[in-house]
Amino acid sequence: MSIMVPSKTPALITPGRQALDSALHQLAGAVEHLGLDDETHTMLATPRRSMAVAVPVRREDGRVQVVQGFRVQHNVSRGPAKGGLRFHPGTDLHEVTALAMWMTWKCALAGIPYGGAMGGVAVDPAALTARELERLTRRYAAEILPLAGPEKEVPVPDAGTDERTMAWIRDTYRLDSGYWAPGASIMTLDDATARGARIAALSALGGSPMGLTVAVQGFGKVGARVAHYLAEAGAKVVAVSDASGAVYAGGGLDLDGLRAWSAESGGVSGYRDADALHRDDLLELDVDVLVLAALEGAVTEANAPGVRARLIVEAANGPTTPEADEILAANGATVVPDILASAGGVIVSHLEWVRNAQAGSWSNAEFDARLHDRVHDAFIEVRSLATARGLTLREAAHAVAVGRVVSDH
Ligand code: NAD
Repeated sequence: MSIMVPSKTPALITPGRQALDSALHQLAGAVEHLGLDDETHTMLATPRRSMAVAVPVRREDGRVQVVQGFRVQHNVSRGPAKGGLRFHPGTDLHEVTALAMWMTWKCALAGIPYGGAMGGVAVDPAALTARELERLTRRYAAEILPLAGPEKEVPVPDAGTDERTMAWIRDTYRLDSGYWAPGASIMTLDDATARGARIAALSALGGSPMGLTVAVQGFGKVGARVAHYLAEAGAKVVAVSDASGAVYAGGGLDLDGLRAWSAESGGVSGYRDADALHRDDLLELDVDVLVLAALEGAVTEANAPGVRARLIVEAANGPTTPEADEILAANGATVVPDILASAGGVIVSHLEWVRNAQAGSWSNAEFDARLHDRVHDAFIEVRSLATARGLTLREAAHAVAVGRVVSDH
């Protein structure tokens, strides 16, 4: 009897593994640019602490299902680790490690004294009831206590989680320690991320987006808000997509109507006042600006040649693979990288910490002005380096961020 050995094992290369490969590739580029030695490279490529936990969740029918949870602290040399929490069925330790690493660079680039962390649970939150989700979240929070907790780090929302998830986590910490971990107050972090992405986009455009056409991949907490802010600034958002599909309206979408439809029906697909589009065709639309606000690995070598937008803004983490980066650069497109365009959340979270430490009170406008300066200044610094050294914005952003982490180590 012969044993069939598959010639390729693509199933072993998970999206998480691809994300980590991208993150390591980007790091290697910065290491080379900065002329760092092998030991430093290894130190930067290796997370300081990683944890995998089994999270039992009691379902409504009495069954106990076990799902995997992860928490990674990539680097703490610049300060306590900061990071999101993702609930997604495809999440694995590789993906969480990549996201923790990107968070380290994001904080360093924005000049924030935090390290990078990330958490994830391999579960589809839409498949659970609210009570099941609460039990799962609390159990996960209890399992990762050795790494997290109110005085070590408090997770913030990411894909598949929201402020309610964070409230369950804070409450679990409180029950454990008796210490009340305050939540974000002035604006939600996904809103801050979206505002940061708008600032990054406008900085790259060198002014107003008035009349420019925009397509947005991902109509979740971040993507829906970026669409809103760009439309508010004068752009015409002609297409958006989410996991359910994509919709297009050449004259500009009614974003309020679409948000209401999406909340009611669970996705943008089927929205009446727009044309239906194949989900992935959105990426290749003839628009001026493409905002990536879904998940990693959205633009790959397979679809990058078809991308027609001149400006790509990464509100999501890791949406463009290194192979796609090369194709986009060769085609003359500008990519505003994730560690710059999606840093708004962590910047505002640091601003809140500064405000609280000073026992001061800042208005929304003051927060906005400070957020603007941080993102815009980081953009100018990155673009100057990119221009001087002939780098892409991503290469320059990683060189600045990695250099800062190394000098603080
Ligand atoms: P979310 O879960 O609220 O939204 C994700 C959206 O992407 C959903 O609309 C989903 O349907 C859509 N999506 C998934 N697969 C898709 C596909 N193949 N094509 C099109 N759409 C698809 O998540 P979020 O919090 O908005 O996060 C989105 C991205 O932004 C993630 O990369 C996250 O890491 C990053 N980010 C989030 C925050 C935050 O504060 N929430 C901060 C920084 C970065």
